[in-house]
Amino acid sequence: MLDPADIQARKDEVIWAAKRCFDLRLQTNAGGNLSMRLASGNAIVIKPSGVGFNECTRENLQLVHLDGKMEPSEFKPSKDLDFHLDLYRIRPDIQAIVHCHSPWATGYASAGREIPCLTVQTIEKIGRMPLIPLSPLGGPQTEAEISPVFQDRSIRAAVLANHGTIGVGKTMIEAQYLAEIIEETAHIAFVRDALMAAHGQTGVTMPIFGTAREARETAGR
Ligand SMILES: [Zn+2]
Repeated sequence: MLDPADIQARKDEVIWAAKRCFDLRLQTNAGGNLSMRLASGNAIVIKPSGVGFNECTRENLQLVHLDGKMEPSEFKPSKDLDFHLDLYRIRPDIQAIVHCHSPWATGYASAGREIPCLTVQTIEKIGRMPLIPLSPLGGPQTEAEISPVFQDRSIRAAVLANHGTIGVGKTMIEAQYLAEIIEETAHIAFVRDALMAAHGQTGVTMPIFGTAREARETAGR
């Protein structure tokens, strides 16, 4: 039995993240998608097709059961609905998903390059953001390409070739922060690469440790 108060609360969290993405220019126009799992049952709330992040409301967000059955809605379901549903099915730890076409990260994805985790924060918090290729027919990635990558429970962020980014979390704010960190990391990597090229540098010293715990262990040696 789905709890109406739970549905409203999850919709409000989706609306909060959508507006934040729009304000930060992680997602303009009607692209991208974000969703959240209900606490009270096997269903999610998700943005429909054709609605911008800045236009999400309690009225237009859709309620979809994990088996794919959709509650009545005057809007078309998103092309991304199936991959969101499958991520919730294969990863019970995922409660929220933010998928954006943020420009710095999608630039890397369109050059066929994995965004490197360069900073101590990304090494510690993310580890790796795999680049997921387009579907075999050249179309946008589906659950057939995305879910196998997220079968690894340590993966929290990924980048879709020629498409955008995915951040997942135990809470909406966690997924939102990942969408922001992916974009920030792509921007940092671009600046680093431009500076290295300008100064004729071919190599760079990377952190010798990745996590605060490893740093303490190194210092204690
Ligand atoms: Zn997309």
